[in-house]
Amino acid sequence: MKQSNIIGVLFLFLITISSAATEIRIDPAFWWTGMKNPALQLCIYSEGISNYTPTINHAGVSILKINKVENANYLFVDLKISAGTLPGKFKIIFKGRGNELPKSYTYELKARNKQDGITRIQGVTSKDFIYLLMPDRFSNGDTANDIVLGTTDETVDRRNLKSRHGGDIRGVMNHLDYIKSMGVTAVWMTPVTENNQPFESYHGYAITDYYKIDPRHGNNELFLNYVNSAHSKGLKVVQDVVYNHIGSEHWFYKDKPTRDWVHQFDKFTRSTYKDMALFDPHASDSDRNVLSYGWFDKHMPDLNQRNIYLATYLIQNTLWWIEYAGIDGLRIDTWVYPDLDFENSLVKAVLLEYPQLGIYGETWVQGIANQSFFVENNYVNVPFKSMLPGVTDFQLYYATQDALNTDFGWESGTTRWYRMLANDFVYKDPSRNVLFLDNHDLSRFYSVIKEDDNKWKMGITFLLTSRGIPSMYTGTEYLSHNFASLSAIEVRQDFPGGFPNDAINKFTKEGRSEHENEAFNYLSALANYRKTSSALTTGKLMQYAPQEGEYVYFRYDTKQTVMIVMNPTKKEIKLNLNRYYERIKSKKYRSGVDIVTGAIEFFDNEEMVLKPMSVEALVLSERGLE
Ligand code: CA
Repeated sequence: MKQSNIIGVLFLFLITISSAATEIRIDPAFWWTGMKNPALQLCIYSEGISNYTPTINHAGVSILKINKVENANYLFVDLKISAGTLPGKFKIIFKGRGNELPKSYTYELKARNKQDGITRIQGVTSKDFIYLLMPDRFSNGDTANDIVLGTTDETVDRRNLKSRHGGDIRGVMNHLDYIKSMGVTAVWMTPVTENNQPFESYHGYAITDYYKIDPRHGNNELFLNYVNSAHSKGLKVVQDVVYNHIGSEHWFYKDKPTRDWVHQFDKFTRSTYKDMALFDPHASDSDRNVLSYGWFDKHMPDLNQRNIYLATYLIQNTLWWIEYAGIDGLRIDTWVYPDLDFENSLVKAVLLEYPQLGIYGETWVQGIANQSFFVENNYVNVPFKSMLPGVTDFQLYYATQDALNTDFGWESGTTRWYRMLANDFVYKDPSRNVLFLDNHDLSRFYSVIKEDDNKWKMGITFLLTSRGIPSMYTGTEYLSHNFASLSAIEVRQDFPGGFPNDAINKFTKEGRSEHENEAFNYLSALANYRKTSSALTTGKLMQYAPQEGEYVYFRYDTKQTVMIVMNPTKKEIKLNLNRYYERIKSKKYRSGVDIVTGAIEFFDNEEMVLKPMSVEALVLSERGLE
């Protein structure tokens, strides 16, 4: 993947056209003392700033190098912040070459955030249950920010699924108790950084300023309050980050620091999205290049993370948000498209400062080998070793659909779950993979299983009792249904009750139908139990090969054992419990208590009858029939 391969098709770069203002912008706008990495690179942006020389006079802070690039409106200044440097403000003085007055910028090094001596960042692990929502579609907590004058898209139209609907961070904050009531422990919002794009800016994946919360969602201070509020309620926060592409209105795209800041072709070239070219031993350079350098969409320029200034910018931005707001986890968008070496550098830099942080990448790919290439794995002799801790487990997502929608067979029905999990030997730690039944890009689970309530319960049970970090897209709890087209707008409906004058409020028991409450209660019972269950969160998994279409597995540790039995077939299945001797009898278990219903299954007659289309999650007990 040599740059020279595409250099011939690069646009001519005109640095004479400038939109830079004379005021100085520095990213990151402030930083911290006491970071493990003493290096900090300031991206300084102002008209003609490269004609100035910055100086700093603050004990412990030294300028190592002043980097000039092709565009005179930028300086990249390498600082060293020595251990023991005291927090405080200081002036960066910029001296011109001639008689111009010097410019100045007041920079601040803050003390690193701590709370009661313990770092407030907790990490996201298999102990968590993540709730995914799109803030524009969840709840409008502040109608004053619905339309922000000066933004490129000043419309709010709830009848149009491609328009903004007015939802915001305040709306999410207003419903944290609701979210928590379901047994959720972490909230993942789609990106809330500025998307000042002329259309379809609601989804957040076309970022125009990495350091700024979109004013239609709130502001940086409100985001900080949101994280603090979530933490005070025992909820963690996952931030959705995007390194592959930006919005075409991004300020540093409109005035690029260097020619190679983004990948450009002589005419619009879309990514092939065929990520397998990255590991395919038979791949062509051409396929690799278009995959990695093609644009994700027409209004989403593809960033060149091999540019070291850009790579540093993105990595520092990530650290900045974690330290500023106290984020617990990162969900990294389009993980398979950016430069792989850059991504490893990013993971390394984040884990150096925050070893507890949960990180998972979006890997919308086909096949276990393909998916595991992009995460820490046990392969040797591969062209690239990823350092990513976890992935969005699309392979288990596909397996779940097949398990519930296809008839039992050698490669179908519940065999799909069994075979897929048997492949876990390829992962360094499969418990860091994120499980899901659907998301904001996919058809709703309830529709995929043809609105079958029994299958829905099986899917939810699998989600909350298999290995990994369960993640649920908003609406699942009230059986939200629809099929997604390519734009996925059909599955990005407003949460009923989240907006002024909504006739129905599904945030309340009264607003949900009896049918919806049954789903809500099932899910909540299981998820709330899971929160304190060591077996379900961190225990081992043992699964048994399906024989007649059933699926039986155990989650267990030294403290407890949970037995999950499913029968997604239309016939009754009799289990001979002696088959599970090593998990039941050898442990002297004689019964199991259903987590959701409290009903007891006694094992004394060594047989369990599974009703057609049934599921049970049983906490095993030594109590027998007396
Ligand atoms: Ca609003």
